[in-house]
Amino acid sequence: KRKALEKYFSRMNDQQRKAVFKIKGPLLILAGAGSGKTTVLVNRIANMIYFGNAYNTEQTYGTPSEQDIQFLKDYIDGKTNDASTLADIVAYDCIKPWSILAITFTNKAAGELKERLAGMLGEAGQGITAATFHSACARILRRECDKLGFSSSFTIYDSDDSQRTVKSILRELGISEKMFPPRTILSEISHAKDLLQEPDEYIASAAGDYRNLTIGKVYKHYQKKLKAANAMDFDDMICHTVKLFEQFPDVLDHYQNLYKYIMVDEYQDTNKAQFRLVSLLSQKYNNLCVVGDDDQSIYKFRGATIENILNFEEQFDCNADTDVIKLEQNYRSTQNILNCANQLISNNQGRKGKNLWTASGDGEKVTVYKASSERSEAKFVADTILEDINKGRKYNDHAILYRMNAQSNALEQTFIQSGIPYKIIGGLKFYDRKEIKDILAYLSVINNHFDFLRLRRIINEPKRGIGEATVNALEQITSDLGDSPIHIMQEADMLAPLVKRSKQLMPVGDMLSELTELSDTLPLAELLDKLLDMTGYKRHLEMQGDEGLTRLENINELKSTMSSYEENADEPSLSGFLEEISLYTDVDNLDSDADYVVLMTMHSAKGLEFPIVFMVGMEDNIFPSSRSLESEADTEEERRLAYVAVTRAKEKLYLTHAEERMLYGRTDRNRISRFIKELPADCIEKQAEETKASPYLNGYEKPHSMSLQQQLAQRKADKSNFSVNTETFAPGDRVLHKIFGEGTVLSSKPMANDTLVEIAFDNRGTKKIMANYTKIKKI
Ligand code: ATP
Ligand code: MG
Repeated sequence: KRKALEKYFSRMNDQQRKAVFKIKGPLLILAGAGSGKTTVLVNRIANMIYFGNAYNTEQTYGTPSEQDIQFLKDYIDGKTNDASTLADIVAYDCIKPWSILAITFTNKAAGELKERLAGMLGEAGQGITAATFHSACARILRRECDKLGFSSSFTIYDSDDSQRTVKSILRELGISEKMFPPRTILSEISHAKDLLQEPDEYIASAAGDYRNLTIGKVYKHYQKKLKAANAMDFDDMICHTVKLFEQFPDVLDHYQNLYKYIMVDEYQDTNKAQFRLVSLLSQKYNNLCVVGDDDQSIYKFRGATIENILNFEEQFDCNADTDVIKLEQNYRSTQNILNCANQLISNNQGRKGKNLWTASGDGEKVTVYKASSERSEAKFVADTILEDINKGRKYNDHAILYRMNAQSNALEQTFIQSGIPYKIIGGLKFYDRKEIKDILAYLSVINNHFDFLRLRRIINEPKRGIGEATVNALEQITSDLGDSPIHIMQEADMLAPLVKRSKQLMPVGDMLSELTELSDTLPLAELLDKLLDMTGYKRHLEMQGDEGLTRLENINELKSTMSSYEENADEPSLSGFLEEISLYTDVDNLDSDADYVVLMTMHSAKGLEFPIVFMVGMEDNIFPSSRSLESEADTEEERRLAYVAVTRAKEKLYLTHAEERMLYGRTDRNRISRFIKELPADCIEKQAEETKASPYLNGYEKPHSMSLQQQLAQRKADKSNFSVNTETFAPGDRVLHKIFGEGTVLSSKPMANDTLVEIAFDNRGTKKIMANYTKIKKI
C-alpha cells in the first residue's frame, strides 16, 4: 500500500518524497533556489488531504478502500472529474483542508500557491488557508479583536493614513516635524513592532536618550490614537495577533486546534514577530514545516532574521523529533544559469555553503549585453522579445527584473512604442503613480486653463485648505461666467461665493498663471523644477522621508521622459509633450490579451520562475545600489538579491547594462556591475550594441559634466545627421510589420518625429504602434 500511495508522488526525488510524507512533527526544508521547496509544500498538502490519514494514522482512523484509491488516482490523472465522489472520500480523511495553514510572503506567491493547490486538489482543496502573514492575521483578528478592545469592523491603515496620524500627534505634542520627520518615526515604530516591542518597553529601553524617548512618546500616542479610531496598521496585524494569543490562552487553544498543520514558505525572511506567531500556533501539536534558503534572505532591512532558520533545530526539538531535509537538485534552471548563481553567491562570507546542480544540461549561455544608453537597452529587450514571439514564444514567457521601480519607465515607453503588452507586478505602472498623475495634472492645467477635472485633482494638493464645497462653487461660477477657473481664482475676493476662501484661492490662481507664462519660455525640465518649487509639491514630498524621496525620484524620472521628448520632437512644446504622454497613459487599451510580459523589482520576483529573464541595469550604483556599496553586509544582502534574480530563469538569462544611463532626470556613466564580473567566463557570452545604431553617442565623453540643456542640444545636433524618413499612412492602407504580419491601418497621427498608427492586424488584433520604431512597411 505504501508503494501504491507513493506512486502519486513518483516525480519527487527521494529527499522531496521524504518531506512530502513527513507530516507530523517539526520539519525544516533548507535548500537552494529552484530545488522544489514550494513544490514539496504543495505536494505535501495534497498528500495530507488525500492520503495523510491512510499513510500516517492508519491505526486510528482507517484507510480508504482500494476502490477509493483507484478513484483518487484517476482524479489526479484527470480521467474523472466527479467531485462529489471525491468529497465523500475526503469526508473520512482525518486531515481536513481547514486544519491546514500555509503561509507565504507576498500576495502574488499566496495567489500562486492557491492556484497550484486548486489545480492539484480541485474542490478538495477548498478550505485550506493559503495566505500571507498579514491576511492570515487579519482573518483571525476580524473574529477575535473584541477581546483586545477593537470592533470587528476595524480599519486597516495604509502608510498614508499612518503618516497623517503621526503628523497630527506631532502637532499636538508640539514636536517639530523637521527634527522628527514622520516617516522616520514610523519606520522606528515599525521596527519596534517587528521586535514585538510595546511603547512602554521602547521608552524603557531608550535609557534617557532624548531622541528615542520622543519617538517612544509618539509611538505610545500613535497606538492610542489608532485604537480610538478602531484602526490597525500593517504591522499591528501581526503584533495584535501575537498579543491576543499571549493574553488569551483559550483563544490560542482554539486556533491551535484549528490549524493543526502549519507550513511557512520563504522562512528565511521571517522577523521576530512572525516567528513568535508561528511558534505560538504550532506549540501544541508541533506540526510545523518551514522551508527556506539562507542564500535568499533579502529582507534584513525589514527585520528579517536569518537566525530563525539557522536555529530552527534548537528551537523546535524540545519534545519532538525534528527533521532537517536538504534538497540539492535544481529542477528549474540550466547548468549555465546555475553555475552563474553558484559562483556569484560563493562571494558571500556568512553562509552555509551549498551548490546547485541539474540533470537538465548546460543550455544556452547567459548573455551579457552592453547597450549605449537606457533607451537602447530597452530596445534590445523589446527586440529580443519580439524575435521570441516570432519563434512561437509567448509574452508571458518573459520577465524583466530591475532593482528600482523607477527603472521601469524607459522599458514601459519602449514596450508601448513596440506594441508589446506588459504588466507591472507589485507596483503601479509608471503613469498610474499618484505623484506622476499629480504632476501631469498640473502641467495639463497650465497647458489648458479650462481643464477643470485636472484642476480638481491638484487644487488642494499639497493641502492648501481648499475644500470640496469651495471647488464646487468655483466650478459653478466658471461655467456661469464662461471664464477660466484660474482667472476666477485670481479674482476670488470680488466674487461673493468665493470671498470666504479668497485667501486660499488667489495665490493658487496667481501661481498657475505665472507658471503658464513660464511655460512659454522655459524648457520643459526647467518648467518642472519651477513647478515643483512654486506649488510646494517638492517640499511636501521631502517631509515624507523615504517614501517621499522615492516619489520625488519618480518625478525626476519624468524629467528623463521630457528630455528625450525634447530631443526627438521637431518643435517641442508642453502641449506636444502632454499629447505624447497621453499615449502612454492610454496603454491599457493597447492590447487586451491576457498574455503579457511582466516587469517587477527583483524583490517581488522571489519564489517565481520564468523561461526567459532579463536583469536590466546591471551597473554599479544601480545594482548593487550605491547605498549598499557602503558596507560589506549590505553588499552581501544585495548579492543574495542577485542570486534570487538569476535563479528565476529557467532557460535563458540576459544581463544588460548601459554605458550611459538617464535616470531620475540626470545622466550618469556607471561601471559594469561587479556582480557580472563575478560570473564564470565560460558560462556567459558577451554582446554589445553596434555603435552605428546610435551615432549621436560618438565622441560623447562626459555627458554629466554638461547641463541638461547642453546635452539635449548636443544630442539633437548629432541626431539631425541621422534623420528618419517618415512614410505616411492613411486609413485603409495595407501594411506589413516584421513580427505581427499584415494588417490594415485604422488611423494615423504624427507624433514627435514619428507616427502613431493604429493597425488592425489580420491575426494579432488591433494595436497602436510607432511607425518608425518598429519599421512598418506599406504593401
Ligand atoms: P525558490 O527557492 O525559488 O522558491 P523552490 O525551491 O521553491 O524555488 P519550486 O518553485 O518548488 O522551487 O520548483 C522549481 C521548479 O522545479 C518548478 O518548475 C517545479 O515544477 C520543478 N520541480 C520541482 N521538483 C521537481 C521534480 N522532482 N521533478 C521535476 N520538476 C520539479
Ligand atoms: Mg519557492
